[in-house]
Amino acid sequence: MLSTMMDDQLSLATLLRYASTFVGDSTVSTWTGDGVRTMTYREVGAESARLANALTDLGIGRGDRVGTFMWNNNEHLVAYIAIPAMGSVLHALNIRLSPEQLIYVANHAEDQVVLVDGSLVPMFGQYLPQLKTVRHVIVVNGDAAAVPAVDGVTVHDYAELLAKYPDSFDFPVVDERSAAAMCYTSGTTGDPKGVVYSHRSNWLHSMQATTPSAMGLRIDDTVLGIVPMFHANAWGLPYAALMTGANVLMPDRFLQPGPLLEMMAAVKPTFAAAVPTIWGGVLAALAAQPQDITHLRAVVVGGSAAPPSMMKAFEEKHGVRVVHAWGMTETSPLGSLAHPPHGVSEEEAWTYRVTQGRFPAAVQARLVGDDGSVVPNDGKSLGELEVRGPWITGSYYSPEGVAVDPGKFDDGWLRTGDVGKITPNGYLTLVDRSKDVIKSGGEWISSVDLENAVMGHPAVAEAAVIGIPDEKWDERPLAAIVVAEGASVQPEELREFLSSRFAKWQLPEYWTFIDEVPKTSVGKFDKKRLRARHADGELD
Ligand code: ADP
Repeated sequence: MLSTMMDDQLSLATLLRYASTFVGDSTVSTWTGDGVRTMTYREVGAESARLANALTDLGIGRGDRVGTFMWNNNEHLVAYIAIPAMGSVLHALNIRLSPEQLIYVANHAEDQVVLVDGSLVPMFGQYLPQLKTVRHVIVVNGDAAAVPAVDGVTVHDYAELLAKYPDSFDFPVVDERSAAAMCYTSGTTGDPKGVVYSHRSNWLHSMQATTPSAMGLRIDDTVLGIVPMFHANAWGLPYAALMTGANVLMPDRFLQPGPLLEMMAAVKPTFAAAVPTIWGGVLAALAAQPQDITHLRAVVVGGSAAPPSMMKAFEEKHGVRVVHAWGMTETSPLGSLAHPPHGVSEEEAWTYRVTQGRFPAAVQARLVGDDGSVVPNDGKSLGELEVRGPWITGSYYSPEGVAVDPGKFDDGWLRTGDVGKITPNGYLTLVDRSKDVIKSGGEWISSVDLENAVMGHPAVAEAAVIGIPDEKWDERPLAAIVVAEGASVQPEELREFLSSRFAKWQLPEYWTFIDEVPKTSVGKFDKKRLRARHADGELD
């Protein structure tokens, strides 16, 4: 029996129409260094129409890829919604990729037009001669004349180009399964892999993001979108904001703790999201110069394990609730979020809040053991996390149209490469990434557990733990420690600090003190680089 329901398509054009009319008074603002420049969603709608008209005239049609090489700002939000709404495919390029990787992903995605932030023109100009499919470059807020001349490439100034076009466009209602946007993984192993989101997956993911069991965005929120728009769909925040009419504050290139705190003081956002390294920096800055941040009703932290000591410091010292979340580029990215169940005390709630959280109903999750069998959700058994659902990718993109499965899929499930356990009531605790777990004498040591624990010591600002080769034990843990400003500490003290929580054989065997933990292009600890540094068991 068929339903009587209308078969309306979940297309992003519908979202743009809604945002620019019924919640058209809501705003997106960009921090300029000493204030904000603001657009209403009504203006976002008008500018989206001008951009869609301009891109159409440049020959961009359904399914064509349009890249962005931009900070988080007003114009990037316009591109984020206008490009998919016109039926083309948004490809937000990660400005921090290595030159080889950036050139690889832009060629692989076959980007035809790239919108480039004025401040990033010098960097982009170096890559342009090697971008094989790019025919037009549109410079946003900058000097178009600074783009080097390349045969077959026309350069435009964004404002001049858009001024030629009307502020209405017949945005099509496309098949909800067609491509809306693409994002590449940051390629920690091998070439980056392309994930292609559909209108439907983005729409459903945004609806989930707005629910109270996820981020609970509302029309009276102001969202500080720190997570870059080129990182995993900006965690769904841009579309979730347009869907609810929440205001957005964009940090542009001002991503250091000082400016982040300045913009918070000026605009008083109610919600923010970023990786733990950003929040760690903000905490340290607050310790040096206290500031009231209680306007934030919640912040989401994810992308790598959030140290419980950091989460508690936000709450206890600054009155701000931190919600721990897990996700991947491949999962759009919202996978699980750590809201405690009802009926638990504040104290008990922490045992849930420090986990990676619970999956929403649409995301199925299971753990698979080394022998390929599913292990029980008993809160103890460890396995590799596998997920499936309407906003989880089922393959990687290939230009030849053949879905690519580099061993990351298992009978319709995505293999996450994360090892963890799940309680009977659905809370996920990740022990490690399978490639980061330390194998010592046939046993596993969780690098994340050691990091979280040692980062709870007041003299430690950051800590990354890796396995280094050992003839007898296979691997032994090395802790790379960044000492907090003005503090000093010795390995013996840190060993002692950890010894009540870990068995002796689990404690770091080696200690090294470094100025900074190397970070990936999206601000996570780059253990690959740390491992390379200590590959031969050498200490600094
Ligand atoms: P990359 O692979 O380049 O880091 P992603 O952002 O897609 O890019 O990374 C996804 C991975 O990040 C997950 O597979 C997991 O290992 C890690 N991750 C994300 N959120 C968390 C979290 N809350 N706790 C621990 N690890 C996390």
